[in-house]
Amino acid sequence: MTRTDADIVELAKRRGYFFQASAAYGGVAGFYVYGPQGAALKRNLEDAWRDRFLTREGHVEIEAPTIMPEAVFEASGHLDGFDDMIVECPECGTSHRADHLVEDATDIEDAESLPTAEVADLIAEHDLACPNCGASLAGTEVSEFNLMFATNIGPGSASPGYLRPETAQGIFVEFPRLKEYARGQLPFGVGQIGTAYRNEISPRRSLIRVREFTQAELEHFVDPERDEPPLHRVAAVEVPLYSAEAQRADDGGIETTTIGEAVESGVIGSPWVAYYLGVARDWYDRIGVDMDRFRYRQHLAGERAHYASDCWDAEAELDGNWIEITGFAYRGDYDLTKHGQHADDDFTVFRQYDEPITVERATVDPDMSVLGPEFGGAAADVAEELERLAATDESAFEGEEVTVEVGGESYTVPTEAAGFAVEEVTEAGEHITPHVVEPSFGVDRVFYTVLDHALREDEVDGEARTYLHLPAELAPTTVAVLPLMSKDGLDDRAREIVETLRAAGIGVDYDDSGTIGRRYRRQDEVGTPYCVTVDYESLEDDTVTLRDRDTTDQVRVPVDALPERIAALRAG
Ligand code: ATP
Repeated sequence: MTRTDADIVELAKRRGYFFQASAAYGGVAGFYVYGPQGAALKRNLEDAWRDRFLTREGHVEIEAPTIMPEAVFEASGHLDGFDDMIVECPECGTSHRADHLVEDATDIEDAESLPTAEVADLIAEHDLACPNCGASLAGTEVSEFNLMFATNIGPGSASPGYLRPETAQGIFVEFPRLKEYARGQLPFGVGQIGTAYRNEISPRRSLIRVREFTQAELEHFVDPERDEPPLHRVAAVEVPLYSAEAQRADDGGIETTTIGEAVESGVIGSPWVAYYLGVARDWYDRIGVDMDRFRYRQHLAGERAHYASDCWDAEAELDGNWIEITGFAYRGDYDLTKHGQHADDDFTVFRQYDEPITVERATVDPDMSVLGPEFGGAAADVAEELERLAATDESAFEGEEVTVEVGGESYTVPTEAAGFAVEEVTEAGEHITPHVVEPSFGVDRVFYTVLDHALREDEVDGEARTYLHLPAELAPTTVAVLPLMSKDGLDDRAREIVETLRAAGIGVDYDDSGTIGRRYRRQDEVGTPYCVTVDYESLEDDTVTLRDRDTTDQVRVPVDALPERIAALRAG
């Protein structure tokens, strides 16, 4: 059954999953607090991600700062290009995502990829109104707005910094160190779970578009010529694909096919992306995403980030809309090349040849004694340019003189004097820039999906019941211990059982307020998979009832056997 956003937000607030931050001061859009249940569920979700995408894949995890200096974002392209389209209402002054207004009012799905002028024209053409006050936005300018939060590092403004808009840069920037820990050997993967910040123009739909959120990103560094993913592990996994072709045909066609077939037919262009789509499909299933409300959507050519050659989003259906919850991108060598160009460090790895090879290498006289005083301060640069030319264009040395450009000036050197020669050298390998495959999970959107897809309704003893069908692995509390009455020693025995279960590392809640029926409903609604009830029989034979949330079936279990029984149930 599809739940509305309002149902989720109401339940989340009432049961301590999440609620708006700083509400006592009026609240600020785009910031949320995870309450006691929510923080526990989020932590369990992150642990499940860690388990599947890091531990089981043999990848490592780091924790980098959330504030980074401006130079990082100059290199990454975020300073110039991490923009959304903004339109400001001429009447009430509120700002809105111009592309979203167009998408909401038309059947255009990726207005983000259109030029701002075209979006302004569409706003005028459809006479779109301000969502806040209803004034017409026709004729209003649409401009670009950079989403990064800026700050100053230390006093004064000499050292600008930014709150990171994605966790990935913290991994790319540290690549020179990380490759050392990997002993210079590809492939290797580095993950990070942490906060990212985006000054979203119009935060909306509670956790789905916020200004501070958590990402779980994996950057898997590979040698594009030598490394291949272990596709056999996921070849048989069935995935619902909404390909670029199906989107262009506009037939809404989601086709379920195996990863093996999708790679073979070329529907998924990158075997590395295919591998992670397969791994992630089973993981989503494990954490309770409803596979009937899930699909992988391929990016259309105009929508792909400039660096990415094949991109797919995992999307979940939430309140009637498909929402991106994870992006899978083959980023090629874009990021490491950029940092290699801007930073003073080595972002390559050394790829050893199977056998050393002998190559001819053109060189010039290393001391360049020919470059007399007339070359002035440019001598070193001219020498360097001649070296570069010798390595890249031998034909430049065929004439009597060779001319190079340095700093906009031409310098001419007699070829003989430059000491041009071709030598044989032995090379053991070469430096290459690794390629990157990136699954980028938005933890908050995955969290929201898990809640939404878990919320169910049925009837128990003729009464409607709402419950959260959370996997036991994720549930904030594994078991609730409930004395039938809080008297006659039932409560004391129940508290002893609580202690025993907690000592065994099981997450336990104790509840003795209200009728037993009400207490079951409360636990059902919070998603607690098991309830232990201590009744009068318990005092006689030391057994308790163990109730299953989904079926509501109860069995009698000896107290001694409880810890093991519950641990086994939780492990599935
Ligand atoms: P969108 O198009 O929805 O703004 P995006 O394509 O910019 O998202 P990415 O840069 O690919 O998102 O980030 C990876 C993941 O981070 C997304 O799949 C999403 O789950 C999450 N994410 C991005 N922006 C937000 C946000 N403002 N609030 C919550 N989660 C977000």
